Amino acid sequence: MSRFDIAIIGAGIAGASLAAALAPQMRVLLLEAEDRPGYHATGRSAAFWSETYGGPDVQPLTTASGPMLRAGGFLDPLGEVHIARRGDEAAVDTFLATFADSGVTLEPVDPRGRIPGLRDEWALGVHEPGCAYIDVAALHQHFLGEARRAGAVLHLSAGVTGLTRAAGAWTIDTQAGRFTADLLANAAGAWADAVAALAGAARIGIRAYRRTMVQLRTDPAPPAGCPLVSDLGGSFYFKPEAGGRLWLTPHDEIDSPPCDAAPEEIDIAIAIDRFERAVDWRVAALEHRWAGLRSFAPDRRPVYGPDPAVPGFFWCAGQGGFGIQTAPAAAGLAAAAILGTAAEFDIDPARYLPARFLDAKA
Ligand SMILES: Cc1cc2nc3c(=O)[nH]c(=O)nc-3n(C[C@H](O)[C@H](O)[C@H](O)COP(=O)(O)OP(=O)(O)OC[C@H]3O[C@@H](n4cnc5c(N)ncnc54)[C@H](O)[C@@H]3O)c2cc1C
Repeated sequence: MSRFDIAIIGAGIAGASLAAALAPQMRVLLLEAEDRPGYHATGRSAAFWSETYGGPDVQPLTTASGPMLRAGGFLDPLGEVHIARRGDEAAVDTFLATFADSGVTLEPVDPRGRIPGLRDEWALGVHEPGCAYIDVAALHQHFLGEARRAGAVLHLSAGVTGLTRAAGAWTIDTQAGRFTADLLANAAGAWADAVAALAGAARIGIRAYRRTMVQLRTDPAPPAGCPLVSDLGGSFYFKPEAGGRLWLTPHDEIDSPPCDAAPEEIDIAIAIDRFERAVDWRVAALEHRWAGLRSFAPDRRPVYGPDPAVPGFFWCAGQGGFGIQTAPAAAGLAAAAILGTAAEFDIDPARYLPARFLDAKA
């Protein structure tokens, strides 16, 4: 088959979930530049589902994704405690007020009772019991499998190098050959603006920011039942992992060109310093380190829907630090925009449309 109804560019979680949503009704081509899907942001996440993460504009997408993720067995209980220092009562109040009408369960707590070894100054906390681990690899494979079973075709090592539209169809030049499709979906993560430029669409201003993660062993190991511990001030979070390990980030956001992101020593040192200021656990071993790019639109809201100026070009971009936990609902919104159907989720699609940045003029 050489002509497709839609070509989706990028086979990370965004492209894979969109392919799974569309393939039952369309002939779908999924094009990935790397030799395996999920090599970039999708394969580098911290792997949690937190309804408050990303703020109130993202929470409806995360919450709406919960039932599918739970039913599929992709979530495991974790819980989250957002912590703040004594004196930061206003930050706690603002956080609680932000989500007061959201339906997300949030309970003020003294975090020191839940996290043995937390230094005394971290006296304020909010418990988010619904926070969960996400099995990212299984979810990504699930979407790719659903898409394939419904007839979607995936090409790896197929970086898109040229896009031209004539007579209502796109000609797509890739490193794996030329393809034709009626529609295009841009799920290229950090490269979303570059793909838009290839299609003759205006750039939205999607920017990529590097985030560093480290895997540690600590003495003592995180206690049984340790939750995800997040600084409400946004300077670190850490999360218990199997085998008594812990994942830690300094919550960095370093402006980066789209690339194969790698961690830098300074960010690892900052992470450990912030960790040791939060708990009295000793860092016994630094086992693993990695970094990935989180890509944001200028208003930090994701971008789903048709380009207002270029016919047949759809955006599925700007998933920031929440592209895994929002994938089911986001794919539903993007698929509804492409198919011209009503979204199955009770979410206003208008706030995610690319038209908020782009002129309707070509
Ligand atoms: C350190 C870190 C921690 C995170 N933690 C979480 C978390 O706990 N929970 C959560 O929900 N989210 C988390 N995120 C965010 C999440 O990983 C991203 O939002 C999500 O993976 C974005 O998916 P994507 O498919 O848009 O991007 P990507 O996974 O980057 O996929 C885009 C793909 O497009 C391909 N591509 C680009 N240009 C072309 C081209 N021209 N032709 C063909 N293919 C192309 C790329 O090769 C890439 O594979 C985290 C991210 C990072 C970096």
